[in-house]
Amino acid sequence: MSKRDYYDILGVSKGASADEIKKAYRKLAIKYHPDKNPDDKAAEDKFKEAAEAYEVLSNPEKRQRYDQFGHAGAQGGFGGGYGGGGMNMEDIFSQFGDVFGGGNPFDSFFGGGGQSRGGRRVQRGSNLRIKVKLTLEEIANGVEKKVKVNKQVVCNTCDGTGAKDKSSFSTCKTCGGSGAVRRVTNTILGQMQTTSTCPTCNGEGSTISSKCNTCHGDGVTRGEETISINIPAGVSEGMQLSMSGKGNAAPRGGVPGDLIILIEEVPHETLKREGINIIYDLHVSFVDAALGTSVEIPTIDGKARIKLEPGTQGGKILRLKGKGIPEVNSYHKGDQLIQVNIWTPKNINHEERELLEKLRTSENFKPNPGKNEKSFFDRMKEYFE
Ligand SMILES: [Zn+2]
Ligand SMILES: [Zn+2]
Repeated sequence: MSKRDYYDILGVSKGASADEIKKAYRKLAIKYHPDKNPDDKAAEDKFKEAAEAYEVLSNPEKRQRYDQFGHAGAQGGFGGGYGGGGMNMEDIFSQFGDVFGGGNPFDSFFGGGGQSRGGRRVQRGSNLRIKVKLTLEEIANGVEKKVKVNKQVVCNTCDGTGAKDKSSFSTCKTCGGSGAVRRVTNTILGQMQTTSTCPTCNGEGSTISSKCNTCHGDGVTRGEETISINIPAGVSEGMQLSMSGKGNAAPRGGVPGDLIILIEEVPHETLKREGINIIYDLHVSFVDAALGTSVEIPTIDGKARIKLEPGTQGGKILRLKGKGIPEVNSYHKGDQLIQVNIWTPKNINHEERELLEKLRTSENFKPNPGKNEKSFFDRMKEYFE
């Protein structure tokens, strides 16, 4: 999951203006464009990488999240980014309208359609959305989840071609495999060449005379895949992660969709999450609070023992440093905060009543909060600011 810094990818400084970012991206997009670097996987990766960086840094909201939380931040939130594994070509080309002010600049040089590559239409599988429930422990430590998903998979029988056998699969005669047909028309402005999708093959570049019996020519079937998802520590309810290419397979050798993972938190029995901190409500008897004691409390990684000083007041907040939740993509960790509540008995027997009656009149048992006693507000400010 190690990804390069978006600013490094575009070769701009952290404080770069929107215009500088656009210019830098334009340069890279031209340099690494697939039409200029046919069958060059390294160039294609660079092209996608730059597009992803631009997608995030050109959007003020995503850029701010990225600055704050790194790559995971750019993915977070509903309708999140394309993080996790890059953008597909269609996304990139549709983004060009903004970048170059009027479509893919390569359309005019190479004659390809805006949404297609080299003319041939590439089908894209749909995105698949799943929910993953995580316990507080899993969120605190990060986890690898193996999830079985029901989805469109490449047909085994025909290897995704949709054809019964090799001989029933042939290059389209109408377009010669390019997926597009060109027409020259005469207009008052001179000759104009228009390109449109080949009507015979629907832009796929090939035709099938006899379809595969298993998938009926689709190239995909319903199936199952067990996908292993690495979830970083510190994610939270509602966050979305995406895995490129793990969604539904596309018909006849197209590009698979993405797998979108929506995070859900399973509430913990005794611990409550508050951002990166964990809150625990401790109840002690007033006798323990008066005499002092040591108590065992739950933490995110097992039990811990804490000491209560004699004369501990209700409402005191104790802190276990670093026992909270890590921030996503950061070494910074929250704390566990323990709020001390004094438990007042609700039922008492005769004997206990007599003991308490004696204590009631004792001078030491009369509330006497001096000026040094902190208010609830002061305590909250101290720990949450
Ligand atoms: Zn055709
Ligand atoms: Zn098939």
